[in-house]
Amino acid sequence: MINTDLLIIGAGPTGLFAVFEAGLLKIKCHIIDALPQPGGQLAELYPKKPIFDIPGYPSVLAGELVDNLMEQIKQFEPGFTLAETATTLNKLEDGTFEVITNKGTIHRAKAVAIAGGLGTFEPRKPLIDNIADYEEKGVEYFVKNPEHFRDKNIVIAGGGDSALDWSIFLSNVAKSVTLIHRRNEFRGALDSVEKVQELKNAGEINLITPAEVIGLKGDGHIEAITVDKEGEVYDLATDYFIPLFGLTPKLGDIANWGLEIEKNAIVVNNALDYQTNIEGVYAIGDVNTYPGKLKLILCGFHEATLMCQSVYNRMNPGRKYVLKYTTVSGVDGFDGTRKEAEKAVVKKID
Ligand SMILES: Cc1cc2nc3c(=O)[nH]c(=O)nc-3n(C[C@H](O)[C@H](O)[C@H](O)COP(=O)(O)OP(=O)(O)OC[C@H]3O[C@@H](n4cnc5c(N)ncnc54)[C@H](O)[C@@H]3O)c2cc1C
Repeated sequence: MINTDLLIIGAGPTGLFAVFEAGLLKIKCHIIDALPQPGGQLAELYPKKPIFDIPGYPSVLAGELVDNLMEQIKQFEPGFTLAETATTLNKLEDGTFEVITNKGTIHRAKAVAIAGGLGTFEPRKPLIDNIADYEEKGVEYFVKNPEHFRDKNIVIAGGGDSALDWSIFLSNVAKSVTLIHRRNEFRGALDSVEKVQELKNAGEINLITPAEVIGLKGDGHIEAITVDKEGEVYDLATDYFIPLFGLTPKLGDIANWGLEIEKNAIVVNNALDYQTNIEGVYAIGDVNTYPGKLKLILCGFHEATLMCQSVYNRMNPGRKYVLKYTTVSGVDGFDGTRKEAEKAVVKKID
């Protein structure tokens, strides 16, 4: 069982920055995310795209912003439960909370911040009749751990950034990589498209276009896929089939937690602290709604900051919090580090 002060559901930019603001208030955090890596939409959907509206960064790559947020919160030693979806929320008799994941991991916390963005990302699945029979038996919709594919024969299907990027990456790991797309054109970053072309020319990626995977075969575990290349149908032996056709977000089980929901988002008290209709449960970032809501990263950062003040008051009833600037107070990490501005000295000048 994992015990913490503030349990954050969602490791997108909002959830990550909440760890920093909580840390300043000596609140310990643990984050759950359904994805295998932190970063939310930024890491999963557009890691190589530049963002132009983060204060202080004229331009920053989404992936770089996630790396910087991770660096910024490292000192507060957050715990992570990754690749697990929060499915159950229980308010306990003593006013604390229990959150259980789809893998059965139990988390206990004094407060819960839902920073679930647009929800969990559900993979778009290809329309192959028996695909469900091979899920986790050779069909993988995410590359959670590239090492899983070491020295294996893999087939990736898709025509976007994920299909291109994982084909490139896994060409160094797997025994063979075949990339199948229903068109000859790919839609992705120019350098990725060019790199795949280069690897294809060097015989390191086997490219089959225009073609579709129409069937899966194997006894228990996948052993072959059936390819339709402009009417020519044949089987291709493989150990894994990885269809990367994009992701659709779903609020999922969160919608059944008794929270007030409006248009697929959680209604919060934005005049005060982004608390939901369940006292002690907050919703911040893209997942919430209130009059004038904007789904922007910087709005999520602001909401996380105010939410942490409220959690502090909840955890320290009666104690008055006095706002301190980090330039003045410095930052004391839970890991024993201290960051501070150079102190002023009193020194005579001759
Ligand atoms: C292509 C694109 C470009 C964008 N460009 C910009 C831009 O230029 N500027 C800008 O400000 N915004 C931009 N945005 C929007 C921005 O990405 C979002 O506002 C931001 O990601 C919201 O952050 P978040 O942390 O609230 O949620 P998310 O980033 O969505 O993260 C939520 C996380 O919660 C997890 N989660 C959800 N439910 C559960 C559950 N039950 N259990 C466990 N985990 C769960 C998800 O897996 C996800 O990782 C863009 C979005 C897209 C798609």
